[in-house]
Amino acid sequence: MISFYPGPSRVYDGVPRWTADAYKKGILSMNHRSAEFMDLVKETTALLRRKLRVPKDYSVLFVSSATECWEIIAQSLVERESLHAYNGAFGEKWFRYTQKLNPRSRAHSFDFQAPLDPSALNLGEADLLCLTQNETSNGTALSPRLLKEIRTRFPQTLNAVDATSSMAGINLDFKLADVWFASVQKCFGLPAGLALLICSPRAAETARRLARNNHYNSLAFQLEMIAKHQTTHTPNVLGIYLLYRSLESVSSIRETDALIRRRAAQWVTFFKKHPRLSLLVKEDKVLSHTVLTVTSSTSLQTLKERAKQKGLLLGEGYGPWKETTFRIANFPAHKVAEISKLKKFLAS
Ligand SMILES: *Cc1c(COP(=O)(O)O)cnc(C)c1O
Repeated sequence: MISFYPGPSRVYDGVPRWTADAYKKGILSMNHRSAEFMDLVKETTALLRRKLRVPKDYSVLFVSSATECWEIIAQSLVERESLHAYNGAFGEKWFRYTQKLNPRSRAHSFDFQAPLDPSALNLGEADLLCLTQNETSNGTALSPRLLKEIRTRFPQTLNAVDATSSMAGINLDFKLADVWFASVQKCFGLPAGLALLICSPRAAETARRLARNNHYNSLAFQLEMIAKHQTTHTPNVLGIYLLYRSLESVSSIRETDALIRRRAAQWVTFFKKHPRLSLLVKEDKVLSHTVLTVTSSTSLQTLKERAKQKGLLLGEGYGPWKETTFRIANFPAHKVAEISKLKKFLAS
C-alpha cells in the first residue's frame, strides 16, 4: 500500500535498513546522557542546519509531536496573550488548546479561499502571533512574501509557525519567524513519534526571562539541556537516529523545494483538466504545495475504496472538509512511478 495520506505518510525506503543498523549499533539501548547520544544530537542538528538551512543561531529541540509544541509554546512563551490567525482545523485546534491554558488568547479566523490580510490583524496586547504555514486540513499555505510582510509589520512581536506538513518539503526562511515546529511523519518521510521545535535567539531569551519552569518540557529547561546536547526526558532516540540517516541521504532543501513545486504544479494542471475532480482551493496564491485537497462530483467513498484495492491510500478529509474532500500528500518520499500510478487511477 502506498500512503498518500498527509501524515503519517509514506516513509523513505531506507527506514527498514536504518532501523536494522540502529539495532546492530546499539542505538536502541543508547543512554540519553551518554557521549554517543550527545554526538548523535550534535550531528543531527548540524545536518538540519546544512540540509534545511536552519540558521546557526537558532536552537533545535527534539520533542514528541507537533501537538506537544502547541502546548510548550502556550506554557512557555505567552506572557500576556497570543493571537492565532487561522483558516482551518489545525490552526483552530492550536488556538483551542492554547485558550484552555491562557484564557486571554484570541483568534483571528480568515477565509481559506483568500490570502491572510496582515492589516486586518489586531494584535492588541498580544505578545505572540501564532500562524499555521501549511494548513493540512484544507490544503492552503502562507507564502514567504506574506510571512515577510507580517514580520515587517509587527517587528516587536514574537511569532510561532506551525510548519508540520511543509518543513523538509519546501524551503522555509526560518529568519521570518521565532519559533518553527514540525513532526516527522509528514514531509520528513519518517515514522511518527518525533518532532522538531526550532527557536530563535529572541524566543530563547523570552523563554529564559519568563522562566516558566513548572513543566518537564518547559522551553527554558529544554534550552538549558540542549546547550549540553541533551533532552529533559528520555527522547525517541531511534527517531532521532532515523532522522539523522534520512538527512544524510536527502537533497538540499532548495532542490527538494523545486521538485515539490514542480510536482504541485503538475497536480494543479491535472485537476484543472479533470472532468469530475477539482481542487477545494480556488485561488492559486494560497495553494499548499505539499497537501492537495480534492472535491468530487461523484461518491468519494467509492473512489477511496477503489483506490485502496489498487494499493493506493488516499487521505481522508479533515475537520469541516471531512465528508466532502480527500487529500493527497505531495511529500519528498513519494516516487515518480507512484504518483503516475495515482494519476492514472484518478483519471480512470
Ligand atoms: C499533523 C499536524 C499536526 C499534529 O501533529 P502531531 O505530530 O500529530 O501532533 C499539527 N499541525 C499541523 C499543521 C499538522 O499537519
